[in-house]
Amino acid sequence: MAGRFVIFTDLDGSLLDAETYSFQAARPALQKLKKKQVPIILCTSKTRAETEVIARKIGLNHPFIVENGGAIFIPAGYFTSEQLRNSGYKVIRKGDYLVIQLGLPYRQLRQFMVSTRKKFKLKVKGFGDCRPEEIARLTGLGLKEARLAARREYDEPLWFEDPSRTRLFREKVREAGLKLVRGGRFFHLTGKNDKGRAVRILKNLYRKKLGQLISLGLGDADNDWPMLKEVELPGLVARPDGQPVGLKQVPENIYKTKKAGPAGWAEAINYWLKVTQTKASP
Ligand SMILES: [Mg+2]
Repeated sequence: MAGRFVIFTDLDGSLLDAETYSFQAARPALQKLKKKQVPIILCTSKTRAETEVIARKIGLNHPFIVENGGAIFIPAGYFTSEQLRNSGYKVIRKGDYLVIQLGLPYRQLRQFMVSTRKKFKLKVKGFGDCRPEEIARLTGLGLKEARLAARREYDEPLWFEDPSRTRLFREKVREAGLKLVRGGRFFHLTGKNDKGRAVRILKNLYRKKLGQLISLGLGDADNDWPMLKEVELPGLVARPDGQPVGLKQVPENIYKTKKAGPAGWAEAINYWLKVTQTKASP
């Protein structure tokens, strides 16, 4: 296997600890990758506002995928305008980023959720029903981070206070042409987008920029499955509770980590660095 490494990674429960949101245990592995100039693309259900802060903390200046594939944020100048033009997708400017939007506007998702809830008397609640204090309590985030998590554009995290009616809601979601996927902590209501489509688009752009690629993917939950299907080397990060993830088909070459969270993330990276003879430097 030859080519340049490109890494797509989930955040919560993968690169970040599911409880503390720390990436401390992955620091040495991140350092190794940075030295080799391997692009690390965050691919998360978090918002753009949250992901930006985390990317800055880790010291990344690469594109990132937010809200379960709702949009790809690309730092201006990262790809040439010709490469972007040839992507086949509309690119819009938002601040310092060029953005490819794949999801439905959040307002539309909320409208669907609120009207379905009312019509069928469902006890389903989402971030849009909560004050930041409540989001902080539910997620264990600080209040500042919870405010960033509330700035949603393409994905509504939700949960059922009456789980026996989950199936009915799921049916209505499907009828409306929307999607409901399970993340580490919540369900997520989105448009037709998923992490996989966003990964595919970025892989094509990277091929133009870097040539032959070996793409790696790391995730821990069902919503990561579309991403793991798109990469050459998929990795499943163990959950702290040891609960297996309900992946429908597991790719043959998937690497399942023994350790959970960022320690498991580092374990997979170290394993792949060892087994592949990759010239990851330019
Ligand atoms: Mg996760």
